[in-house]
Amino acid sequence: MFDAHIHSSMSFDSSVPREDVVAEAVKRGFYGLCFTDHYDVVDSYGKFVSDYDWEGTRMAQQRALACAGGRIIVNNGIELGNAPYGFAAAESVLNAEPEVDFVLGSIHNASEKLDYKDYYFVDYTDTDICYKYLDDYFIQLEKLVEWGNFDSLAHVPYPLRYMMQRDGMDVDMARYQSSIDSMLRTLIRRGQAIEINAGKKPYIMPEYAYLLDRYRALGGRLITVGTDAHSIPQFGMGLKEAYMLALEKGFESVAVFKRRKCELVSIRKLLALE
Ligand SMILES: [Zn+2]
Ligand SMILES: [Zn+2]
Repeated sequence: MFDAHIHSSMSFDSSVPREDVVAEAVKRGFYGLCFTDHYDVVDSYGKFVSDYDWEGTRMAQQRALACAGGRIIVNNGIELGNAPYGFAAAESVLNAEPEVDFVLGSIHNASEKLDYKDYYFVDYTDTDICYKYLDDYFIQLEKLVEWGNFDSLAHVPYPLRYMMQRDGMDVDMARYQSSIDSMLRTLIRRGQAIEINAGKKPYIMPEYAYLLDRYRALGGRLITVGTDAHSIPQFGMGLKEAYMLALEKGFESVAVFKRRKCELVSIRKLLALE
C-alpha cells in the first residue's frame, strides 16, 4: 500500500508524531507513504497565514526517516490549502522548500464573500445553503486549478462530506459537470493528478466514481490515493477500497511523487494481486 495523504503533529488538527505513523506503516507492510501536513493560506478561522514551519517539518521528517530505516518509502509533502486567497503567500511557502516531494492542492474554506468560512463549520440545514457554498467552492477550485502549482488536486467533493455524509443533505455534484470537465482538461494537459480521498470512514464517496470516469474519459491517467488520516486509528482506513475503485475504473497504476516528479507504481503490486 502507498498512502499519499497523511497528517501528523505538524498539522494544527493532528497530534500524531510522524515516527508513530511510520512504525505503524512498517508493521502493516506498507510500500510507503507521503506526509502532507496542512498549510492553509487562510486558516480554519479565516485568518491569513503567510508562512509555514519548514524547519520543524524537516526535523520531524528526519525522525520519520530514521524510524523507517530504509524499509519503506517516506516522502515529505504538503497539503497546500486555500491558495486562491493569497497566491503570493502560497508561492513563497513552496519556494522556501525546493526539496518538497509532493504538493496536494485543496480548498477548505469559502471565499471572502462568505467570510472565509471553513466548510466544516457550516450547518447545512437546507439545499439552498449547500448550493450557495458549492457554487462558491467550485469557483475557488477553478482558480486553484488555473494557478496550478500543485501535483494532485485533493478531495474534489470535499464540502459534500459535511453536507451529505454529516448533515444528511441531498445535493448533486453533476450540477458542476462543465466546471469539473474544464478543470480536468487543464490538469490532464499539464500532467497533473487527481486524488481519491478515502476519507474518514471505510467508505469511498460515490462522487469519486464519477470523477474517475470523467478524468479517464478525457484522457487522464494520473491518480494519487490517500486516507487523509489525522490519527493512527484512521491510518490506512478505506485505502484498499480506494485502490479497488481505481482498478475498477481502469487505472492500473498510482502516481507517486518524489521531488515533484511522478513515478508510476502498479496498483496490483501494491495490493499484492500480482
Ligand atoms: Zn484537505
Ligand atoms: Zn488532508
